[in-house]
Amino acid sequence: MISQQDVQAYRQQLQALRSALLTQIAEQRGGSRSRADVAADHFMHAEDSHAQVTSQRDLEFAINEHETAELADLELALLRLDAGTYGVCIDCAAPIPEARLKARPEAQRCMACQEKIEHTHL
Ligand SMILES: [Zn+2]
Repeated sequence: MISQQDVQAYRQQLQALRSALLTQIAEQRGGSRSRADVAADHFMHAEDSHAQVTSQRDLEFAINEHETAELADLELALLRLDAGTYGVCIDCAAPIPEARLKARPEAQRCMACQEKIEHTHL
């Protein structure tokens, strides 16, 4: 069971990671540009130098996707802290070792279940 003190520490760590990630995403998107603007650009320029634009955009979207997934993990971990289910594997309900949470506070699975998932994807 995670102590109330640890919950605070994990929350701070997760929030710090989340704000760093949000800053990084904002910078990559050129600050004030919204996702809609980027999409509009994509369609407006789709006709000229199509191949080049596509690969650039693909790269951008691939990066965004990775970061969006990471952001979702952080958000989920914060929700789980609030719900009191943080630090418990979502698959087998075993407690996630503290060392793992310290290294990856957004971890939702124990090592064994995480490995299973990764092998399934590969
Ligand atoms: Zn597990």
